[in-house]
Amino acid sequence: MTSTHYDVAIIGAGPGGYVSAISAAQRGAKVAIVEKQYMGGTCLNVGCIPSKAMLHIAETLHNLESAADLGIMLQQSPVFNMPRAVAFKDKVVKRMTGGVSTLMKGNNVDVFDGIGTVDASKTVSVQKSDGSSSEFTADKIILATGSVPFIPPMPGVDGDHVMNSDTCWNLPKTPESLVCVGGGVIGIELACMFNALGTKVTILEMLPDVLAPVDAEVRKLLVRILGKRGITIVTNAKVEGIEDEGGQKKVNVSTEQGAVSYNAEYVLLAVSRRANTTGLEKLFEFGLDTDRGRVRVNEHMETNLPGIYAIGDLVHGAGLAHVASTEGEVAAVNATGQNVKMSYDVIPNPIYTFPEIAFVGITEAVAREKYPEARIERFPWTAIGKAVAIGETEGFTKVIIGKYGEILGAHIIGPDATNLITEYSLAMRGELTVDEIADTIHPHPTLSEGLREAILAAEGHPIHIPPKQAARAAR
Ligand SMILES: Cc1cc2nc3c(=O)[nH]c(=O)nc-3n(C[C@H](O)[C@H](O)[C@H](O)COP(=O)(O)OP(=O)(O)OC[C@H]3O[C@@H](n4cnc5c(N)ncnc54)[C@H](O)[C@@H]3O)c2cc1C
Repeated sequence: MTSTHYDVAIIGAGPGGYVSAISAAQRGAKVAIVEKQYMGGTCLNVGCIPSKAMLHIAETLHNLESAADLGIMLQQSPVFNMPRAVAFKDKVVKRMTGGVSTLMKGNNVDVFDGIGTVDASKTVSVQKSDGSSSEFTADKIILATGSVPFIPPMPGVDGDHVMNSDTCWNLPKTPESLVCVGGGVIGIELACMFNALGTKVTILEMLPDVLAPVDAEVRKLLVRILGKRGITIVTNAKVEGIEDEGGQKKVNVSTEQGAVSYNAEYVLLAVSRRANTTGLEKLFEFGLDTDRGRVRVNEHMETNLPGIYAIGDLVHGAGLAHVASTEGEVAAVNATGQNVKMSYDVIPNPIYTFPEIAFVGITEAVAREKYPEARIERFPWTAIGKAVAIGETEGFTKVIIGKYGEILGAHIIGPDATNLITEYSLAMRGELTVDEIADTIHPHPTLSEGLREAILAAEGHPIHIPPKQAARAAR
């Protein structure tokens, strides 16, 4: 029997779901959220947050290699202790996920622990792990069930020492060697992390390039940097299966040159992610529309079933937490009686390698094809005082400027790129022109000066580098 009725019910408490719950509650709705596994979803438990905690540790270790240059003389080589690092990561995750629970309470959102199943009459059944169940109804439903790692159908993927991004966070020790299958963002970030922790890393990528959506020049520089650190990257490499050989994993690959294999202690599968449709079975029976495995939505984030919205990794989009959250806000606003559209025009993309990469808008290749009149310029970190002072001069900022002085794209590889990209994103969203950025006083010494200098370089009058050298120095 149905006991309670809500204005809005949300299935899944990742960055899409919990943000939409807060947003709907703050608009006066009576809100319930159902979570089957962990508050904060993939992002807080096995994604963004643990990966950044571990990458922070890895980068700190990496930076110690040049400590002597700063006058910091280590008495002995640093010793990395995996269990302590994992404990630090766990503390971070616990704090963040606990924060989500507190936010639910503070916003009067009712939390149901268990697997939520939704039917077309908007009845939600919650199956708890102890076997008990409950049921409630809602006027509007927001589906936010996220995604899970895609495990390619090939021999050996379920073997020992074969991990994915859900299962690689609690290793007892640093792997001696690792083959990472997949050179997308997740694969590259994890490869960068394991390499810095002391693992011999090989990345196998099926496509001709790793990090396919990244600007080619940025990608090329990162590949060079990772290569110098000892990471082997093999492209055009199709993994066919994994076997055991001599106490190691043997990854069989077909390449243009023929069949080859790579041996390592561990294999990390990081090929892609697929939508998690647990609990949506009855909606599919009722005709919930999908497109290549993801739930189809309109620009209001509403599915083809009226009053049922879908957001985040469950739908086609960027596969990014901040996009899931924005979609969640749009769905919540619409579910509580307004009518707003989701805009994908300006999406900042962060990549947490060291150096970091961040980009927004179009790449140089797209600009050359579609906007032949665009001005494209780079400015190197070597000419920025703050970057020199902190010893992080590798990389550059590239801007792509349209004929009205608008920013069509911006690409940063270098220190704190993932924070810096927000300035360009804001400029693009606010339709600012290069003049407005150039006229904005940037504090000194900061890395943000590099963003203004890139704009000045595109205008033909950079301050801290001779104009004609700007492009060359960046390469
Ligand atoms: C290793 C890694 C690193 C990443 N790093 C970044 C990054 O740096 N920046 C970034 O923007 N993105 C990053 N991402 C991507 C980011 O984690 C996702 O885009 C984001 O988590 C999607 O949010 P979501 O709310 O749609 O889904 P999820 O976070 O996947 O949450 C969905 C939730 O729904 C729950 N659920 C599913 N079905 C049901 C059901 N039937 N009943 C109840 N609960 C259910 C799940 O348990 C889960 O908690 C990373 C991902 C990975 C794997």
